[in-house]
Amino acid sequence: MPAHKASLSENASCGLTTVRGSASRVVLLGRQGAGKGTQAERLAAHFDVPRISTGDMFRAGADTGAELNGDLSRSMKAGELMPDVVVVEMVRARLSHTDAIETGFVMEGFPRNVAQAEALDSMLAPDGLDVAVELVVPSDLVRMRLASRRVCVDCGANYSVAQPPRSGWTCDVCGGQVVSRQDDNQAAIDRRLALYEEQSAPLIEWYRRTGRLAAVDGTGNPDTVSQNLLATVADHHARAQPNVGGLNQGGKS
Ligand code: ADP
Ligand code: ZN
Repeated sequence: MPAHKASLSENASCGLTTVRGSASRVVLLGRQGAGKGTQAERLAAHFDVPRISTGDMFRAGADTGAELNGDLSRSMKAGELMPDVVVVEMVRARLSHTDAIETGFVMEGFPRNVAQAEALDSMLAPDGLDVAVELVVPSDLVRMRLASRRVCVDCGANYSVAQPPRSGWTCDVCGGQVVSRQDDNQAAIDRRLALYEEQSAPLIEWYRRTGRLAAVDGTGNPDTVSQNLLATVADHHARAQPNVGGLNQGGKS
């Protein structure tokens, strides 16, 4: 695993300090609506690494190596999962970029089943993943969140009916249009949550068995969740590299 050279610089958003030159390979797990997108963004900013979101990549029509055809695109809107081979190759291509190789990443939306996790392990060999963190939010709460969620079509920033952008439905970050996601309708929400229980719950067990799982309560306010998440990831780094110490160590003191 690359060394953590925790050189701290100015504060990023949300009160988290940016740590440049560190390497971090983190996967966020959790139900749809658990806050993975928001938290991945903050954690990635903190470590100064790319956030990799397979959902965003599909939505952006990224070069998947197997362009989403009409059928796949329709099935994505209905809440179905994309074929493993398509997702795995898209992730493999993304992880071959210099930023991910040199600095690491915070990933969300992938892996979502054990086969994808095994593929990820083989892509990351021999260093492997630092930690998979489950953001724990019960299903009744995520249902409420998903129904009121709104996202920026351009940058993926998250809003809600209760917390809209400052000006109309225009993204605060990039000025893009803020809308309801096409798969945030009731039928697709039901389907996605059912698939989560079926495929991703066993994945969490698998990470637990392989000693790489941590869990963070995702129900509190987003800043508290961020702090807890960061502490959890830093704790894993510290245990993996006892001589370096926690990333918080050199932080705001
Ligand atoms: P959510 O987790 O809220 O359903 P994402 O934004 O992570 O949404 O993903 C949106 C859609 O993109 C999924 O419903 C699925 O069709 C596709 N997708 C994203 N990541 C994967 C993956 N790892 N495996 C299969 N399909 C995926
Ligand atoms: Zn935006």
